[in-house]
Amino acid sequence: MALLKKNVWLIFYILGVCATLLFASISYLKYKNISFHYQNAQENIVEIVSNATYSLFDTHERLMDIIGVSILQNEHHLYESHKIEHHARPLLDNPTLGAFGVTKPNGEFIYASTDPNPKNLQSLLSIPESRDSFLETLTNPKMTFGRTYFSPSANLWGMPLRKTLRDPQGNPVAVMTALLRSNIIYDNIISTVKNKENLIIFVVRDRDLYFQYHSQANHVNKVIYDTPLSSAFIDTVYENASKHYHLSSSTLRENERIVSFIYEDSKGEKYLTSLKFNNTYQLWVVSHTQLKTVMNDFLQTFIVYFVFYLGFGTLFFFLFKMIATAEEKRRKDLVYQATHDPLTALPNRNYLQQRVTSKIDAKEATFSLLYIDMDHFKNINDSFGHQFGDYVLIEIAHRLNAVCSKDTIVTRYGGDEFIIVAPLAEHDVLMHFAASLIEALSKPYHVHDLVFSVGASVGIALCPYHGRDLDTLLRSADIALYESKKIKNTAHIFADTMQEGFLKNIQIEQALRSAISNGELFLVYQPQVDKEGTLYGIEALARWKNPTLGMVPPDCFIPLAETVGLMPQLGKFILETACFEIKPLQECCCYDFKLSINISVRQFMEPSFYAHLLTTIEASKMSNLALTLEITENLFIEDIHYLIPLLQQIRALGIEISMDDFGTGYSSLSMLKKLPIDELKIDKSFIDGIQNDEMAQKMVQNIITIGKNFGMRILAEGVETQEQKALLLAFGCDYFQGYYFSKPLAQKELEQFLRTCF
Ligand code: C2E
Ligand code: CA
Ligand code: CA
Repeated sequence: MALLKKNVWLIFYILGVCATLLFASISYLKYKNISFHYQNAQENIVEIVSNATYSLFDTHERLMDIIGVSILQNEHHLYESHKIEHHARPLLDNPTLGAFGVTKPNGEFIYASTDPNPKNLQSLLSIPESRDSFLETLTNPKMTFGRTYFSPSANLWGMPLRKTLRDPQGNPVAVMTALLRSNIIYDNIISTVKNKENLIIFVVRDRDLYFQYHSQANHVNKVIYDTPLSSAFIDTVYENASKHYHLSSSTLRENERIVSFIYEDSKGEKYLTSLKFNNTYQLWVVSHTQLKTVMNDFLQTFIVYFVFYLGFGTLFFFLFKMIATAEEKRRKDLVYQATHDPLTALPNRNYLQQRVTSKIDAKEATFSLLYIDMDHFKNINDSFGHQFGDYVLIEIAHRLNAVCSKDTIVTRYGGDEFIIVAPLAEHDVLMHFAASLIEALSKPYHVHDLVFSVGASVGIALCPYHGRDLDTLLRSADIALYESKKIKNTAHIFADTMQEGFLKNIQIEQALRSAISNGELFLVYQPQVDKEGTLYGIEALARWKNPTLGMVPPDCFIPLAETVGLMPQLGKFILETACFEIKPLQECCCYDFKLSINISVRQFMEPSFYAHLLTTIEASKMSNLALTLEITENLFIEDIHYLIPLLQQIRALGIEISMDDFGTGYSSLSMLKKLPIDELKIDKSFIDGIQNDEMAQKMVQNIITIGKNFGMRILAEGVETQEQKALLLAFGCDYFQGYYFSKPLAQKELEQFLRTCF
């Protein structure tokens, strides 16, 4: 079946050739069969006609012998018409007889059955048509034939049979002529034959090849009976007898063999001819059927066969066409499936491979490859299930197609990664194009009643500058993407300098994967104080000391952990370590000071986050009321409809929420109203400029006013000087954190620090 599907048309052609050969063979056999049938029938007719002719002539010869004997017994009867008539009565009563006459050896009539006055009739020797045969009769002891002619006195076409009466010395005394009705017997014989209208039968005498009888002579008697058959005919007979039957002319004649062959007359008309020689009377009995008739008969069968052949051929053609069409469609579907992503209907990486390779092979002008990675896309899948994620991916595909022109290839490379191949090479144009892509992708996504926001980072590589094959181009674009990912929602074109940073990051990434299990990670704690300078709480800050890389700052490894998916694991470590390290210290000083823990976006969006928080609190016996979770504004570019209930759930436990780095991110002040937040942390960047920068002062004052309006606690971080503290105090800030009070402290240092406090 598989073979059939693969070679549908080949098989069809083979079957077609076989069917045609079969059709041709069957047709040929049928033709042979029909022509054999005709030949057989015709040979039978020749046999019948030959026998009938013989017995007719033989009967007449015998009758004439009897009449002759009875006349000769009384020779004087020869001169009395009525006596002759009396003797000839048996013959005259024969219906085949047209007329009977007796002449003298000089041809003058003594008796004529058709004329009471025979003396008036012309002498047979004076008639050119009868002269020859009459003279022959005088010398021939057997019965002879005159040429078939029209007898006006008998008013019929007749064939004269002559027999000479001789005296005992053998001298001719008279000649008897019996005029046979030329057609009566043959019509009787032939009327029994089927298809007689197509059959031509004639009897020709061998002597001069005049027709004694011709079945078609009814219409054109004179011409036929006055024209001898061409001697070429007899030559053809001998030739065919020798060629097809291996018979010599004498054997053919003496043995009276029937032969059949194709004869072509002088006009080019072909006949199926059968014949036999009658040796007794030296006559050829011939039957002709026009080859056209055989062909017509064959054609009737052939047309039926041909209709079947054509009908089945057409049927099979359509059947095979159907199979071929279905197969072609299946093949196209398979190719489509192999080269397209079923979800978004965008071409996939196989397609990309083919197209880029052919572009490179064709040495097409410079083109660019844009590697797009959606920022925080995983959160959508994790939080709302893959169905939601799928909707967003489909929408992303629509947006990409809408932005890209026809000569640009848009493919889904996998997950939330898309690759665009564009015929663009200029940096400005490319960056503009990338910006339009990011803009389109960053617009909110509406799925059911929910609204999502996801950003997109783009890395760009140019062919051939950044790679001459797809793998190198992808690698270069990926490195540029890595650069963009650090900032998010941006695009970068690959530059050689990125390679180094990228490799470094790869190295860090690999080291980070084993950092927790190797005990390279630990926490430090930075105190937070109130207006009076009394310890209010501490912020846990992660540290990583690697034997090769040395101290790696959290600004570097935290975003890296987020990008490479290590954050859930790292976050769990931080939460657990902080709770388990601080709880004993709180117990020591009998004071549940606040413990602030930074929660990254990824960590917070992790579906298991809440459950893990509960287990850790329970296990460490940490008081809910002493715990503050620091989240950043960036969290709110994720789905706010998912976040708010989660925040409320956490707050319901008594755990407080602090908004870290406030003022640097996306959230507007008006959004604050909607958020369940207990504390605002004014970002260090505002505190840095607070003494000299009026704008910064205004900003800090506004934050404090609005925060207070919403009933929030205000904490300033990065306070390094007494002046900064004094100003913040004057603006109404409640809590402070910074080097001015204390640097982040290791667990042991914190223990000492606490001792000085309590
Ligand atoms: P952040 O949460 O804003 O943390 C405050 C950062 O300001 C800390 O830097 C702290 O050492 C620094 N800092 C505090 N007071 C002063 C000051 O007076 N002067 C100066 N120059 N710096 C001061 P650090 O520890 O390097 O952390 C950097 C950032 O790394 C953090 O910013 C936070 O976003 C992230 N991070 C650190 N530890 C963790 C953690 O455990 N979990 C998460 N998710 N992020 C963390
Ligand atoms: Ca913080
Ligand atoms: Ca901060």
